[in-house]
Amino acid sequence: MFLYSETQQRRLKELGVRSEECALSFSTREEREKQFQITERSLVKAERKRLQHFCQDVRRSRVSKLERDLSDVLVNEGFVEVRSPLLISGSSLAKMGIDQEHPLHSQVFWVDGKKCLRPMLAPNLYSVARDLLRITDGVVRIFEIGSCFRKESQGARHANEFTMCNIAEFGLPEAQRHARLEELAKLVLTAAKTTDYTFEVETSEVYGDTIDVVHKPTDLELASGAMGPHPLDSKWRVNSTWVGVGFGLERLVMIGDKECSMGSLGRSLGYMDGIRLTI
Ligand code: ATP
Ligand code: MG
Repeated sequence: MFLYSETQQRRLKELGVRSEECALSFSTREEREKQFQITERSLVKAERKRLQHFCQDVRRSRVSKLERDLSDVLVNEGFVEVRSPLLISGSSLAKMGIDQEHPLHSQVFWVDGKKCLRPMLAPNLYSVARDLLRITDGVVRIFEIGSCFRKESQGARHANEFTMCNIAEFGLPEAQRHARLEELAKLVLTAAKTTDYTFEVETSEVYGDTIDVVHKPTDLELASGAMGPHPLDSKWRVNSTWVGVGFGLERLVMIGDKECSMGSLGRSLGYMDGIRLTI
């Protein structure tokens, strides 16, 4: 019995073949080679067509489109769009409580010992919110959409660089925080045309409620939300109620397209909107 060789399996996977099909078995080597050639040729043809269709008619990736749609939705909803640096100081990470013991610490890409590529948007948003809170009546609504970086093992659900959309609202009545957090999450989920999700609430005496948005059929975490007053607030000189939620945009696109992996949807030289470029 002959199975596809490792190289053949890798090539088929690259071209989007499902694992079951890569596991086919053949009674002779010749039969296997023949089938591989037929399959590869037809896949390359189909993939070229997809790429041509993308370049001629679509021209904007789904993550890019979602970024724009979300920006419009949130600005219309009264939120101010923030564009903050990708390179942040190590001290701002420390102010987020990310010390040696924190699980995120080992995932940080350091740039010159003192700076790093931001693994999250929260430190920059804390900083901007603190400054805006000084000049407003106490209500600040901000969001940012942009790359975050984490050293990951690059599985199907994680990339080293991914697009985060983080929304934060300050100065709302304490009793409304929970409902507002879900409302903000729903704005994003609606824009992403996602309906199969649940909110998973965890209550911690120290940190208050945290809410994860989870895609139910796959158990994939789509977002994490939190609320304040929070023990970290004093480090940022923020003295307000707040809610915040951060979504990974590639994950939102990925759940709408089971064939696409995280790596093919993010920033890449190998793929365009999930379609292989090197065919
Ligand atoms: P996970 O437990 O799935 O690794 P997390 O809890 O570490 O995620 P958060 O810090 O809560 O992630 O980040 C908010 C959101 O950003 C996640 O819910 C997810 O949608 C997205 N995200 C986080 N890490 C990655 C990654 N490496 N690649 C792609 N998206 C990610
Ligand atoms: Mg999380």
